[in-house]
Amino acid sequence: MDGNLRNAYLDALGIDRWVSRDAVSEPEIAPPEMPAAAPVLADAPAARFDTPVPPPGVAPRAPLPAGIGWQPLREAVAACTACDLHKTRTQTVFGVGNTQAEWLVIGEAPGAEEDRQGEPFVGRAGQLLNSMLLAIGLPRETVFIANVLKCRPPGNRDPKPEEVSRCLPFLSAQIALLKPKIMLAVGRIAAQNLLATDAPLARLRGKVHHFGESGTPLIITYHPAYLLRTPADKRKAWEDLKFARATYARIVGGGGAPESR
Ligand code: URA
Repeated sequence: MDGNLRNAYLDALGIDRWVSRDAVSEPEIAPPEMPAAAPVLADAPAARFDTPVPPPGVAPRAPLPAGIGWQPLREAVAACTACDLHKTRTQTVFGVGNTQAEWLVIGEAPGAEEDRQGEPFVGRAGQLLNSMLLAIGLPRETVFIANVLKCRPPGNRDPKPEEVSRCLPFLSAQIALLKPKIMLAVGRIAAQNLLATDAPLARLRGKVHHFGESGTPLIITYHPAYLLRTPADKRKAWEDLKFARATYARIVGGGGAPESR
């Protein structure tokens, strides 16, 4: 990637960098020393999206046909009335990007702007997400971006368990179609639902999780909306992004995914 372009995006991320006096090529990036990563935990059992267990009192939604294609899946999402969110949505937000992508980025749920435009991460948080991805050499259009929920929760409240339970089969089907090499979950809600855990985000960062039966490597970082509110944590997010990029490089290089930073 062009060094100036990357530097522009690092600036957008608020990441300090320095240029060696002797440097003749790309400047080195020198984020401040990070505290050691949290101790590695045993992996929480990955959520079974194909057969989600609805919370007590919640009727399961009709299963999607096995081997469903992109277009029928889009239509199923657009027509979904499995939870009350369909009553308040402007439109569903299926996901966007390259259907051949090796990276799948997963957020929580559409916000107001996403509900209006029908595309994930198009508001301020989306602009920061674009910068985060570009900083590791991934223009937005080269990845696929989806959310745990396809409809906006009113007032941007947290998703309810029954909403997640009814919506997860759509994400499961997207993962089955895309077969990503690596997944990046942004934020606590996405991370906890993908990993079926209530562990705090701080304990989920800094290691490679393995998602579902495919064992797809899954890395966790902060939600860009959180980073807009808490810019001091952009440095930690930058560590996560570099870790994700290094993990991907090892996977495609045949070295397999490391366990932790
Ligand atoms: N936050 C998310 O988690 N997803 C979006 O699409 C927008 C904001």
